[in-house]
Amino acid sequence: MGARLTPRKLRRVGVLCLGGGLLVSSCGNGAPVASTQALSTGGAAVQPTTVPRRQVASVPPAASVARPRIVQDPIPFPSTRKREMIAYARRHYGLDTYRLIDPRVIVEHYTETPDFQSTYNTFAPDHPDTELHELPNTCVHFVVDRGGVIHQLVPLGIMCRHTVGLNYTAIGIENVGYSDQEILRNPAQMRASLALTRWLRCSDHIAVKNVIGHSESLSSPYHHENVPSLRGQTHSDWQLADMNIYRARLRSLPCR
Ligand SMILES: [Zn+2]
Repeated sequence: MGARLTPRKLRRVGVLCLGGGLLVSSCGNGAPVASTQALSTGGAAVQPTTVPRRQVASVPPAASVARPRIVQDPIPFPSTRKREMIAYARRHYGLDTYRLIDPRVIVEHYTETPDFQSTYNTFAPDHPDTELHELPNTCVHFVVDRGGVIHQLVPLGIMCRHTVGLNYTAIGIENVGYSDQEILRNPAQMRASLALTRWLRCSDHIAVKNVIGHSESLSSPYHHENVPSLRGQTHSDWQLADMNIYRARLRSLPCR
């Protein structure tokens, strides 16, 4: 499990944001935290019982925002991968489903890849990821490339492994690039990333505060992880200061 680095090592090796889909390791510098939350276990599909319930007060109930143009580039997600996702959800969340139901969080990532195709190639095959060595392979729902094209890889109704502790309730968005700042400075990519995130959050009544960077995962009120050794696991993509910029831009695009 050499990929599971200590926070000090993580700072030294820098970031890697594809949930172990590339090279090695994880991103992040979060100090390990203990989670005492527990989800229901066994039986039929269940919703988390101790994580905070929907926080919709700050989002207009009749949100209506135009869907941005989205190119469909689905990765294979056959029954085998779904069964593996169920096993993952049981192990990590006590949930008996591969479905993403009523997502409450959107997680922004960046890829540490040069383009969309290399990102797609990372997520498409179903093999144990190189960081945590689990099945199914990591994935995200959307990838926003450098030119501002939005690609959808996985239907929103399916769970993806992109953020330990939040996969049961989080939509994952990868932004192609090598740093938060690079993406913040790319007008076309930012426009598309914000349009996608706005549409998703307004459609699902997700508060801006629950649009987070991967590096913020441990402090999310929705964070839950049943595997003790993973309760402090995160990556360092999208730091707080950069996400504050991202969220400020998102707030300027309210739900109508
Ligand atoms: Zn990430």
